[in-house]
Amino acid sequence: MALDPVRTGPRIGAGRVAVLVPLPLAGTYDYTVPPGLSVAHGQFVLVPLGGRTVAGVVWGAAEDAIDPSRLRAIDSVLDAPPMTRDLRETIAWTAAYTLSPPGALLRMAMSVPEALDPPRPETAYARRPEPLPDGLRMTEARGRLLRFLADGEPKRMREIGGGAGVGPSVVRGLVAAGAVAPVSLSSETPPPVPDWRRRGATLTTSQETAAARLRALVAAPGAHGVTLLDGVTGSGKTEVYFEAIAAALARGRQVLVLLPEIALTVDWLRRFSDRFGAPPALWHSDISRPARRALWRAVARGEAPVVVGARSALFLPFRSLGLIVVDEEHDAGYKQEEGVVYNARDIAVVRARNAGCRLLLSSATPSLETVVNVGRGRYGSVRLAERFGSAGAASVSAVDMRAEAQAPRSWLSPSLRSAARQALDEGRQVLFFLNRRGYAPLTLCRGCGHRMSCPNCAAWLVDHRLAERLQCHHCGHREARPADCPQCGATDSLVACGPGVERLSEEAAAAFPDARIALMSSDTLRGPQAIDRLLAEIRARDYDLIIGTQLVAKGHDFPHLTLVGVIDADLGLEGGDLRAAERSFQLLHQVAGRAGRAAFPGRALVQTYDPDHPVMRALIAGDRDGFVAAETRARRAAGMPPFGRLAAIVVSGRRLEAVAEAGRALARAAPRQEGLLVLGPAPAPLALVRGRHRHRLLVKARSDIRIQPLLTAWLREAPARGGVRIQVDIDPYSFL
Ligand code: ADP
Ligand code: ZN
Repeated sequence: MALDPVRTGPRIGAGRVAVLVPLPLAGTYDYTVPPGLSVAHGQFVLVPLGGRTVAGVVWGAAEDAIDPSRLRAIDSVLDAPPMTRDLRETIAWTAAYTLSPPGALLRMAMSVPEALDPPRPETAYARRPEPLPDGLRMTEARGRLLRFLADGEPKRMREIGGGAGVGPSVVRGLVAAGAVAPVSLSSETPPPVPDWRRRGATLTTSQETAAARLRALVAAPGAHGVTLLDGVTGSGKTEVYFEAIAAALARGRQVLVLLPEIALTVDWLRRFSDRFGAPPALWHSDISRPARRALWRAVARGEAPVVVGARSALFLPFRSLGLIVVDEEHDAGYKQEEGVVYNARDIAVVRARNAGCRLLLSSATPSLETVVNVGRGRYGSVRLAERFGSAGAASVSAVDMRAEAQAPRSWLSPSLRSAARQALDEGRQVLFFLNRRGYAPLTLCRGCGHRMSCPNCAAWLVDHRLAERLQCHHCGHREARPADCPQCGATDSLVACGPGVERLSEEAAAAFPDARIALMSSDTLRGPQAIDRLLAEIRARDYDLIIGTQLVAKGHDFPHLTLVGVIDADLGLEGGDLRAAERSFQLLHQVAGRAGRAAFPGRALVQTYDPDHPVMRALIAGDRDGFVAAETRARRAAGMPPFGRLAAIVVSGRRLEAVAEAGRALARAAPRQEGLLVLGPAPAPLALVRGRHRHRLLVKARSDIRIQPLLTAWLREAPARGGVRIQVDIDPYSFL
């Protein structure tokens, strides 16, 4: 693979440098460069820090202000490819934008510290070519070893122990006798290389037009910029962006693909392997440490041609990025809410710009931010307007729940029941979507009204009948469902209120006793393989009725599914945060898109108490663009993102009074400036999580105001007293 030269700064000779260390509270520290050592920007070095030695990155010039005699010296330079300038710039930018310490970002980029240790070559043993040395004394053990090595492949000592049942002394004996030779194995086996020359799927005319445009965008030297691949569900966006990947690989460049949910990637990986004849490298937090180390080093050497991963893959040390793809770019899963609070979609824009490569954002329901950027001409766009095959778009209609005669403790309306009955009788599959895990969101005492709630959070405990317990979805607290009310002691008085998917499947089983029901939720399906298995069984028609949470909404292909019923379409509109309407529309549109992918037309019935809500109207009319336009107008009028800036500040701590006081103190010290508004503090909707009380402030600013410097100056003055923690969330997605 052709590599660009590593872009590093000029070498810095003897003197002083600033080194960034991967610690969350640190900026850079200055060190002297001992005589004889020369370091360059981006190099990994060992430096003394306090009483220990840590690995860091040479970040830039040292500050002149510090007396050199007080500085300590760099220990040594590590034998690893230097961090490229584009990654360093991305780290610096992200730190400044999210108001996080750069060291916290560096820690994400150095997530496998042992990757910096020089590779240890492993010794293996191979049989020397025949004939055996003269006078070799044969024993039974030696015979077993020679037979085990007969295929000529070098084997490691532990493989020999297991395979031939002989110990190291036998091996050493045969080495000494000249029958076996030690071989040094590199542990740096490069990942498989996808073959871009293989033929992909035969594209339709409109797919080919789109693919040709993407290929040209990726192939142009020095091409960078952002392109939206905007295609209706089932239009073949994946097939089309595979062609862009092929074009980047043809130029010898590396490709990064971000997927919002690694649990759902098995099918994607299979399609990739079918297309390119080899799997991509997979990066996420659950892969083993040795695998992470190997992949990190391979990426840094420029040898991992395609990496697919979760958001943290953005900070891998790519040598020669040629393309980044963000699939389902609108997905809220790209927002990391803990530690460094960032949106991977936005950082991908920055990394692509710094690396000088193309960024592709793919979605059937692009985020409003992206649509606005396309409208302003900042992003290009390539559209796929038709579904692949003969399938047309599913027709969506509302079930007006105000008009339905609904039995108590029943959530399937008569209209939906009869439509489902008909589809099942025709031998088709039906999907019921309810975005609520468990059996019931609330357990209540009929006698005294007591509500079962979490001891650590201001939240109700969710009844999980299959797991036979009550569970908090915020802190993970779980307890057995008590027999008697813990408040008044009444027996048999606790009742489940409201439906979750488990309860819905109970009702469905009673309504359609002949239907084979599959339940799809993160509680019932553990891990990517389990999801993949169930999806295969659904495609093989082992099930008639699928009941699921948002896990079913995303990207799956259900060829025999013709009816989708959305149980509580209004659910996502509750709370009314900034993106509630947008998110609801995206989710419901995706769910409806599951129906009618193959030869049969699909239908979606949406149960709502508010059929005139703009989200419902747009869904029914299939008017995505109209909906986005209306949302855009509303956001513009309100000065909300992307037309204004927003930051949330969450003050939290164990003592309510300290939290409230810290919030008030912040508000008193708030910057006063035209075009800037600080709202709050107010108790957060989720006022207690994991035993910590939470108060929120919201900063709203005109888009021409850079809020980071203002926030930095403001929060620097904020004393973090009484165990109070202050967390900043720029461009918040969660308003809880
Ligand atoms: P999207 O990501 O736009 O929803 P996909 O790329 O997942 O669409 O394609 C939807 C389905 O149609 C997939 O099963 C895919 O394999 C199939 N498909 C799309 N385009 C083609 C094509 N040109 N040839 C064969 N199958 C295709
Ligand atoms: Zn809890």
